[in-house]
Amino acid sequence: MAHKISLNTQILIGCAVGLAAGLALQGQGQTALAQDTLYGAKMLGNLFLDLLRMVLVPLVFSSIVVGVANLRAHDQMHRVWTTTMAFFFGTMGLAIIIGFGAAHIFRPGEGLHLEMFAEATKNYQARQMPLPDYIAQFLRGLFQNPFKALAQGDILAIVMIALFLGIALVVGGERYRNLRTLIEELQELCLRVVGWIMHLAPFGLAALLLQLVATQNAALLASLGHFILVVIGSTLFHGVIVLPLILWLFTRKSPLVFFKGAREALVTAFVTSSSAATLPITLRCTEQHLHVKKDIANFVVPLGATVNMDGTALYEAAAALFIARLAGIELDIASQLIIFFVAMLGAIGAPGIPSVGMLSMVLVLESVGLPTEAIAILLPIDRILDTVRTAVNVEGDMIGSLIVQKLAGGTKPAA
Ligand code: ASP
Repeated sequence: MAHKISLNTQILIGCAVGLAAGLALQGQGQTALAQDTLYGAKMLGNLFLDLLRMVLVPLVFSSIVVGVANLRAHDQMHRVWTTTMAFFFGTMGLAIIIGFGAAHIFRPGEGLHLEMFAEATKNYQARQMPLPDYIAQFLRGLFQNPFKALAQGDILAIVMIALFLGIALVVGGERYRNLRTLIEELQELCLRVVGWIMHLAPFGLAALLLQLVATQNAALLASLGHFILVVIGSTLFHGVIVLPLILWLFTRKSPLVFFKGAREALVTAFVTSSSAATLPITLRCTEQHLHVKKDIANFVVPLGATVNMDGTALYEAAAALFIARLAGIELDIASQLIIFFVAMLGAIGAPGIPSVGMLSMVLVLESVGLPTEAIAILLPIDRILDTVRTAVNVEGDMIGSLIVQKLAGGTKPAA
């Protein structure tokens, strides 16, 4: 009976059903049954996503305030902050190097030419934004009216406000005890609601997966198959070998134990392609299954969901080399260094929502003078690539919090 099966198993069954139904629908074409099923799946999938988004803003806000406020000792705060940043930048840098390496070794795009895609790129207008403008816009977006940011769900700005308030609570000490308790309780309440929403996860994820599979264009996937395989293979290499190895080196934690605790979040990230929508589940897994102390998890995970994107960084590096090859351009070392930094900046600036990596992709291409209309080739296959890269983005946040806990968590128990 359903209530006897664990949630994890239910989620796996849901995904299998969604996948099978999606594949079955692919052959159905435009029949009424196929359209009705897709319509139903869309409603159910959106309901699940909307429920997650409903708790997202109060959860991110309260988690970070509580996380920072609990890192009371000044020394601990400093160590947590620097370790977190070192982990984020270090792993994103590694991901970019793996993306470059894979593109050099497997040479996707060889034998193809940009002119072959003339039809696809003809009507494409890239939304161009020069690098200085992008940086200026990014910086301006960081600090906003808190009410506007909260109302519009602008996660990066909410993270900044929460960081400031958390620090003010630390500095103010006992004087603000009541407010701190209130925000702590708000966070607990949000996590309780997430627990309820999770009961819908097997159905919501099945519906989202069905849509994803049923709407793929098989012919297009086949023509760019080599590139897709290289990107997915190298992203998996980073997620299944490199990140777990780093985890093991620093914490001696078995990757199997990690994946077991993390799977709810990883599956949700894969299916929703959104680190932000997955965030409530990522936090739940990090605290409840991976047993990271609240103060560390509350700080690292929400920050990581917007800043730390290994999968996105890897993808942008590999895709830039792919496009260069299509256009018949050999990129020198200097151009590759520029791509390295711009891909990292793009991954940091990208909010955790589906296909947003595509926007910073334009920036990466432009930074080294590659044709931006080539994005038109990447766009139709992006939904499929976004799955694995978002799962690896989210995995990085969970591994980061385990490592930060080990290196900088100190002995002080969470308040
Ligand atoms: N979808 C990714 C995420 O939410 C971002 C991207 O498009 O690369 O993590």
